[in-house]
Amino acid sequence: MRVSVDSDRCCSSGMCVWTAPDIFDQSETDGTVVLLLPEPPARLRDPARKAAADCPCRAITITGDEGAG
Ligand code: SF4
Repeated sequence: MRVSVDSDRCCSSGMCVWTAPDIFDQSETDGTVVLLLPEPPARLRDPARKAAADCPCRAITITGDEGAG
């Protein structure tokens, strides 16, 4: 699994940081998303999927997700 973010689309909601704080943070200057962990380990993949699904601005993309683990 690989996570990517589009900070131009991010509307600084903070949802992803709430859902997966090991993977996402927010900029201290403008609140936009900061990607901490682009290749999350197995235990963080469900939170990563949830963060992508719940992002109100569709700013999070997941690729190479084999579906298990
Ligand atoms: S959930 Fe989406 S819009 Fe909100 S901070 Fe994260 S990337 Fe940005």
